[in-house]
Amino acid sequence: MRKKPVVAIDGPAGAGKSTIAKIVARVLGYLYIDTGAMYRAITWKAMVNKIDLRDERKIVEMSKKTDIKLAQSDDKLKIFVDGKNVSEKIRSENVTKNTNTIAAIQGVRKILRDKQRLLGRNGGVVMEGRDIGTAVFPAAEKKFYLDAKPKERAIRRWKELKAKGKRVLLKKIAEAIRRRDYRDIHRGISPLKKAKDAIVIDSTSLTQKLVAQKILDRIMESNG
Ligand code: C5P
Repeated sequence: MRKKPVVAIDGPAGAGKSTIAKIVARVLGYLYIDTGAMYRAITWKAMVNKIDLRDERKIVEMSKKTDIKLAQSDDKLKIFVDGKNVSEKIRSENVTKNTNTIAAIQGVRKILRDKQRLLGRNGGVVMEGRDIGTAVFPAAEKKFYLDAKPKERAIRRWKELKAKGKRVLLKKIAEAIRRRDYRDIHRGISPLKKAKDAIVIDSTSLTQKLVAQKILDRIMESNG
């Protein structure tokens, strides 16, 4: 039997990668892997242990000893760090803000990249992040780069937070996203970048269902 493909979905913050990747994985019966959650998990643990986030040696040492597990249940993905469920904690504003400091550490990226490659080695995964199509699985059969206008991405985040009962100024969210993207795009190793052979989808004026359908169509058409 032919090996199932690795589906890579990269793109900036708030482009809708997680929601879309989850839908695509569910329809195909593939495993959904949120690589951003892994970087967040390391950041959360370092913060809880009060490790200086600029102390690369200590952060890498800690990362080597950290067990990260992703467990899917229904439509939710649970994240465990050393056996502790941190699914909500890693989404806090503080963790979000600090994650790209951790994501710029080469040793951390190597550890997480190895984990990600292991998870995807047999194919049949939808993996989303910033560098999946360029660095983690440069030979992935299906690569997508999901984008949307900055204003639309900020509005989506604002709505998400509002649904959780949090009220934050749209302007503040837009600025945080801008800063995060800038740092992800301009870091020296594995920056956020469209892979040459990735299919670009601008989701600004598309529904999530339509974006997922476009991706599924492209996967099916070349599988056929
Ligand atoms: O996707 P999410 O917003 O949860 O990612 C959080 C952060 O993790 C990103 O802003 C980026 O700094 C980092 N990240 C990364 N490489 C990935 C996935 C996430 O550097 N493949």
